[in-house]
Amino acid sequence: AAESRTWSFIDGDWYEGNVPVVGPRSHVMWLGSSVFDGARWFEAVAPDLDRHCARVNASAVALGLKPTHCVEEIVELTLDGLRKFDGRTAVYIRPMYWAEYGGYMGVPADPQSTRFCLCLYESPMLPVSGFSVTVSPFRRPTIETMPTNAKAGCLYPNNARAIMEARARGFDNALVLDMLGNVAETAASNVFMVKDGVVMTPVANGTFLSGITRSRTISLLSEAGYKIEEKTLTVKDFMDADEIFSTGNHSKVVPIVKIEDRELQAGPVAKRARELYWQWAHSTAT
Ligand code: PMP
Repeated sequence: AAESRTWSFIDGDWYEGNVPVVGPRSHVMWLGSSVFDGARWFEAVAPDLDRHCARVNASAVALGLKPTHCVEEIVELTLDGLRKFDGRTAVYIRPMYWAEYGGYMGVPADPQSTRFCLCLYESPMLPVSGFSVTVSPFRRPTIETMPTNAKAGCLYPNNARAIMEARARGFDNALVLDMLGNVAETAASNVFMVKDGVVMTPVANGTFLSGITRSRTISLLSEAGYKIEEKTLTVKDFMDADEIFSTGNHSKVVPIVKIEDRELQAGPVAKRARELYWQWAHSTAT
């Protein structure tokens, strides 16, 4: 909630609270020219912070914005801002860019008007019990239909309607398919499944966000000796899986305990992946 302790770095200074930064003439208000990233600080670590900062700059470029800060600067600003928090509650780290003005015909962003804000706010890590998913009637766009190579605000109404539709039918979240009908991700995280000891996750085909937590989990599991396959996976593959789990910066590795009417146990691979993630995260403490 906006009331939780919040600090934002804008135009060279830190401000407390949900400070206003855009006006009714801002390009982002009309045409949604915003990109963002989400990283987490918890138990005195901010795992893969550099990769999240690099991704926000890449997302900006994908939308025709011009990053105003280099990756190292965003990392330094984050570490500086985190000192304002007591460290008891986890903090969400959200760097973002948007355009103030439009370029030609007002439609593309004017890259010179790119603005940056780094918003840090308290947000506890959720308890890890697991969640349910149903197959969404909504699909991921392709790179030809939306800038799927960016973590852009304009992509999220589709994720929002997938979640709203799933919740209206009594599920926590949705399994979202790509345009060809293969499994892409959940509406807010990446998905993995395990069958006969092999860990599988949809191959990054450009339609979904190939998450930083996904890639870290793949590395950690394969270093620990698990066989991992990135491949095309169908709903049927997931319905027949021995276990299913999700990865994302918000809650890291979380089991999926129900798919449609089928209940699953939180399995040993998800548990191990979560342990490996936490061990690795603590090893990054400076
Ligand atoms: N897919 C979507 C749609 C997301 O919003 C997120 C969370 N950023 C992810 C996947 C997971 O990505 P990451 O591990 O980089 O947070």
